[in-house]
Amino acid sequence: MGICPVVTTSLLTDNFTGGLQHWARPEVLTCTSWGAPVIWDSTFNPHVAKQEARRQNLTIGLTVFAVGRYLEKYLERFLDSAERYFMVGQSMVYYVFTDRPEAVPSITLGQGRLLRVEPVQGESRWQDVSMARMRTLYEALGGRLGQEADYVFCLDVDQRFTGNFGPEALADLVAQLHSWHYHWPRWLLPYERDKRSAAALSWGEGDFYYHAALFGGSVAALRKLTAHCALGLQLDRERGIEAVWHDESHLNKFFWLYKPTKVLSPEFCWDPKIGWRTEIRHPRLLWEPKEYALVRN
Ligand code: UDP
Ligand code: MN
Repeated sequence: MGICPVVTTSLLTDNFTGGLQHWARPEVLTCTSWGAPVIWDSTFNPHVAKQEARRQNLTIGLTVFAVGRYLEKYLERFLDSAERYFMVGQSMVYYVFTDRPEAVPSITLGQGRLLRVEPVQGESRWQDVSMARMRTLYEALGGRLGQEADYVFCLDVDQRFTGNFGPEALADLVAQLHSWHYHWPRWLLPYERDKRSAAALSWGEGDFYYHAALFGGSVAALRKLTAHCALGLQLDRERGIEAVWHDESHLNKFFWLYKPTKVLSPEFCWDPKIGWRTEIRHPRLLWEPKEYALVRN
């Protein structure tokens, strides 16, 4: 049993441990080489985390983009499921970014929960919608969202919550292990390899492959993350190139340079198409089937 030093050096220092118990899952990696916890089911005490978040009077933001046909297809189920499972009992605020504010479904929200609709432009390519999120988030974090929230999670809309996702996931900088790649050897990970791209990682670089469908952290840390990624995306665009996995490639570059202080196991964002795996005990967020023909141009 080892302790994870980052737990005590993160912004949430001693008074926010999330009730970590690394030893509860000896069969999986529960601490990174730089000392950040990798949280799996039963490696934390959700009640302790809940109490700590409430005692600190935290407000948690959840951002989601629903542009074009993604709105009808995914948004309602995403929000309904978040009401059931995401940060239940905490003060929280949704930021829904969309090109059609009037089409956002009305959802009955729990006490202390708020939903704000933020207009954004549509884009002709789905990749452009995905990439434009970094810049929009950067601006929102510098505005009202950044003032209202202490911690923010930024999510894809094409997924739904299926289990409790609470303050145990909070930390200064939170990254999600990609469910398809968490057990792959490093040389196979789909990082951008073209050195002309700002997102490029050399062979031998990279810790894990992180999923851009979920990342989070303090407002200050996310300002830095989104600024870095938005700048990288812009530099690539000026050079007429696009990284292999778009914003996700830039996110992976950022997390290589600035290590996350907490890593979420694939249980926190699981693709049911992968099938059954012994170490996946309790998925909290499931990918929706990718019906690209319906939602993409
Ligand atoms: N998105 C959107 N409209 C689009 C394309 C993307 O709203 O036309 C948003 C949506 O939140 C989506 C995210 O950007 O979940 C990332 O795109 P997508 O999920 O298609 O990418 P993938 O998960 O397949 O990499
Ligand atoms: Mn997605």
